[in-house]
Amino acid sequence: MRKTLYIIGLSTLVFSCTSQKNVKKNTYRPKTTAAQPKTAVNSQNLEKNKPEVATEHGVEFFRTNIADITKNDNTTSYGSIVSAKPAGYKVVKTHFPAVAQNFRQKYLILHYTVLPDDKSVEVLTQQSVSAHYLVNNLGDNEIYQLVDENKRSYHAGISAWRSDKNLNDTSIGIEIVNMGYKADASGMKVFQPFSDEQIKKVAALAKDIVTRYNIPATNVLAHSDIAPTRKQDPGPLFPWKKLYDEYQIGMWYDEMAKQNFLTLAQTDIDTRYNEPSFIFVVQTALQKFGYDILPNGKWDDVTKKTVEALQYHFRPQNYSGVLDAETWAILQSLNQKYPTK
Ligand SMILES: [Zn+2]
Repeated sequence: MRKTLYIIGLSTLVFSCTSQKNVKKNTYRPKTTAAQPKTAVNSQNLEKNKPEVATEHGVEFFRTNIADITKNDNTTSYGSIVSAKPAGYKVVKTHFPAVAQNFRQKYLILHYTVLPDDKSVEVLTQQSVSAHYLVNNLGDNEIYQLVDENKRSYHAGISAWRSDKNLNDTSIGIEIVNMGYKADASGMKVFQPFSDEQIKKVAALAKDIVTRYNIPATNVLAHSDIAPTRKQDPGPLFPWKKLYDEYQIGMWYDEMAKQNFLTLAQTDIDTRYNEPSFIFVVQTALQKFGYDILPNGKWDDVTKKTVEALQYHFRPQNYSGVLDAETWAILQSLNQKYPTK
């Protein structure tokens, strides 16, 4: 009876899902039709295309992807296979992995802890905040995993980027041990540098994660990018350009494109900085890039903090939150290079 239901169900799926754009990429195509004997479940074809399940230390996992990973979709998980164990029944997973599946992990978010090493471990494992990984500052070769990649960790809080919200649901979080900033006498935030060993660890870890989940450059972000009114981390001393240049991780603008925008950007700053129509254009550009901001034509606190977040990431020499020509040119070149789809 179950097999009969399976045939009917699969036939229905084949017809009802043909509009799904990824079905054609399937390398695993059971050609079941309702006319076949009900007892067979097309087992020969299925057997031929059966994905290999490996077992290590009692944990089962698929060895190979069954379809196209290039668009972060249609692939089996790299993680262990977590299945139900219904009383009296057997869950069969070797024959029936669906092609219509994707990763939950769409974003990689970087943080600093504002705590020393021992306290970072204590807080991130024992309190109501966490991250998938913690990069210590001990100069060793260890990276601590605190949360399974297939589970949510509580690192992002209220957050948004482009059309997505609550990024804990869809991200991997990396915390880096660093004391953050202290305000100097003038109120300017003075940040602590990261060690070279930490940056190498973060780069290797980030590379591994973005490769396995095919996370796009536009989704490798700072906590400050996805929560600009609340957060500054990992701050202006985190070397995003180095990660981009040396490891091909995340976003960076093209210098030539920025130069092309610079003259006009300077004119904008010099002649219409306080015009509501100009502020509206800048806010719209920030929103288009991905920041959670509603254009209103005013240099308000949200806009200042959003400009500051952009500067932490892409203009670390000036993170005043005040838009200068360089920042404005960088924002326009980023929007040109990474348009919203
Ligand atoms: Zn953070």
